[in-house]
Amino acid sequence: MEEMLILLKPDGMVRRYSGARALKSILELGVNINFFEVLKPKREFLADRHYAEHKGKFFYDNLVNFMSATELAVVIASGDNVVEKVRTLLGKTMCEKADPLSIRGRYGTTKGVNLVHASDSNETAEREVKLWMEIINLEEGKDYKKEMLAYIKTYENFPMIDSVRYREISRDLSDKRISKEEAEKTINELLTKETDFEEEIVNKLPALITENILLG
Ligand code: ADP
Ligand code: MG
Repeated sequence: MEEMLILLKPDGMVRRYSGARALKSILELGVNINFFEVLKPKREFLADRHYAEHKGKFFYDNLVNFMSATELAVVIASGDNVVEKVRTLLGKTMCEKADPLSIRGRYGTTKGVNLVHASDSNETAEREVKLWMEIINLEEGKDYKKEMLAYIKTYENFPMIDSVRYREISRDLSDKRISKEEAEKTINELLTKETDFEEEIVNKLPALITENILLG
C-alpha cells in the first residue's frame, strides 16, 4: 500500500483552526494514519535532506527559514492512491491559484505560504517516508489516528481569521498600497488572534510571510 508524508507547516501550526481543519479533511478521505506527532526537526535536516530537491531555487532560502520557524505536525498516511487523493484535496501550490474548496484554496495563508506539505509524487513519497523514518520514533501498535483526532479536537474550534484577510494584505503589499512594515504588523496581529503559540515564535512568521509574498 502507498505511503506518504504530510506536514503541517508553521502557518498551519500557528493558525490552529486552519491546521486542524486541514488535518480533519485529510482524515475524511479515509486514509490510514501510520504516524502522527508534533516535533521540530533540525534546520539542517529540512535544508539538506527534506528540501534537497529545491536547493538553488529562488524560494529555497525562504522555504527553509519558514519551515524551521516552529514545530511541525508530522503525519505518515497510507492507502490506495493516497498521494493522488491527498494532493487533489490539497490543491495547487499557490493558495490563490488553488481550487477554493481545496485545503490550500480554503485555509492556505497566501501565495507559497500554503499550510500543508504533502509528498507530490509516488517517487517523492517513497523518498520522504524513508527519510523521515530516520528522525521519528515509530511505536509499534500505537493508535496514531487517535493522536491525530485528539490534536484536531483541541484546535478545530479555535478562534480563526479567514485566509481572505491575509490575502488582502498580500495583495495590498504586492500592489504597493502598504509597506512591508505595515503588512508585517497586521499579519502579526491576525496571527496572534488565532494562536496560543508564544509571542516569540509568532513574531518570526510575519517577515517570512511578506518575503514569500514578494518573491513574485
Ligand atoms: P508543493 O508543495 O505543491 O509540492 P513544490 O514542491 O514545487 O510545491 O515547492 C515546495 C514549496 O516551496 C511550496 O509548497 C511553497 O511553500 C514553496 N514555493 C514553491 N514555489 C513557490 C513560489 N513560486 N513562490 C513562493 N513559494 C514557493
Ligand atoms: Mg513538492
